[in-house]
Amino acid sequence: MQEDKPSILLIYTGGTIGMIENETTGALESFNFEYLMEYFPQVKKLNHNIASYSFNPPIDSSDIEPQSWEILAEIISNNYESYDGFVILHGTDTMAYTASALSFMLENLNKPVILTGSQLPIGMLRTDGKENLITSIEIAGAKDENGNPIVPEVCIFFENKLLRGNRTTKINAEEFSAFRSFNYPALAEAGIHIKYNKALIKEFKSKSLITHNKFNPNVVILTLFPGIQEEIVHSVLHVKAIKAVVLKTYGSGNAPQKDWLVRELKEAIERGIIVINITQCAAGAVEMDRYETGIQLQKIGVISGYDCTSECAITKLMFLLGQGFNTQKIRQLMETNLAGELTLPTYKS
Ligand code: ASP
Repeated sequence: MQEDKPSILLIYTGGTIGMIENETTGALESFNFEYLMEYFPQVKKLNHNIASYSFNPPIDSSDIEPQSWEILAEIISNNYESYDGFVILHGTDTMAYTASALSFMLENLNKPVILTGSQLPIGMLRTDGKENLITSIEIAGAKDENGNPIVPEVCIFFENKLLRGNRTTKINAEEFSAFRSFNYPALAEAGIHIKYNKALIKEFKSKSLITHNKFNPNVVILTLFPGIQEEIVHSVLHVKAIKAVVLKTYGSGNAPQKDWLVRELKEAIERGIIVINITQCAAGAVEMDRYETGIQLQKIGVISGYDCTSECAITKLMFLLGQGFNTQKIRQLMETNLAGELTLPTYKS
């Protein structure tokens, strides 16, 4: 390897970016990574040393599981000292979950881990994959004047924006601009130049990486809606294995004032189930003390997810449960900013 060039490990998990049309059925199918490089030889021309690792077989991101996150964390950890940065090619559908999970698994991360993908396969003329891939590689190799990585955190790069991974949501199944981070500004924008917003990016710290794995997926996302039925909520909260619930409430964290709902939630919390309040709104935060309908949740022990995305809240819960912490510790850590995933109100931070 040439020493002065940034070295990047490209990890191909699957997804549209590496897909091709099946000639018989017309359906999009994954193909192997060598094929991607064949379609896109320009990658080799970048002034970077690029090595690659491919999932075998590549998977549609709908099939991503916590085990896939463990594999990714292991690949990064095993290759950590050999590369300046990591680019993960991933399907867009669950990219925000993977980015969130990795942000918790890779403690003390001080190198870029950039996830990207595309809406159109890289082999198609109008693909968005080429730009996404090239710019992600550039960001993963970018260093500051001291030779430290500019972006030492887990991010998603898509279209022209670099977003903090655990703040990101897929919002569009059609447009190239498929992701948003509603509650945290973009870390960088790519136009003629890549403009980094350094004040928003995690500071570089010279620490050793600690990789955590293990997830406990005995959790559920329960979305409130007018007409929600007691029997159904009761059943969900009484599933034997259930450990935690992400409750997607209205507005700033409000729930209907139905006696049965408050009772079911209260009893669940008394049984040790963790209930975290996340708003159904795309932007903004939970403030349970704002309306009576939120205060009643706070009183029975529902904890606030503040401005966390639901993708992040559910992966954080699975992660903390997987680490074997007790209920009290998990409740406390859910209300703690561990990896830049939430904004605490000023009186708490
Ligand atoms: N279904 C695909 C996936 O998430 C979509 C994509 O890659 O954009 O793997």
